[in-house]
Amino acid sequence: MKEARFESPTDVVRWLQDEAAGLWPALLGSLSFRRSPCVRENCPACRSGEQHSSYVLYGRLKGRRVAVYVPEELVPEVRRGLDNGRALQELLQQAAPRYIKALKQERARAPKSKKR
Ligand SMILES: [Zn+2]
Repeated sequence: MKEARFESPTDVVRWLQDEAAGLWPALLGSLSFRRSPCVRENCPACRSGEQHSSYVLYGRLKGRRVAVYVPEELVPEVRRGLDNGRALQELLQQAAPRYIKALKQERARAPKSKKR
């Protein structure tokens, strides 16, 4: 991570936008794998104990837990989105101190009367 000596708040916003541009779709939640039996009688998969695998994405919406079934063929795409979501969170964590530092430097260079 290289840090420019005098980065302006605008520079930080530009950096953040550039970095975030490649992180879409960004998703949050946790993808769970589960096995469960089905309702069919004499199902070979259930009788063998193999059962049926499925994926569920758990997330929170306004404090409430939500669960969404994810078809197996969509799992790689959902995983990519979740990886992006983690990367975006990491990016926002990095952005906070960097942006505040830029604001402080800008304030330090401004005339004293404009200081708050
Ligand atoms: Zn079954």
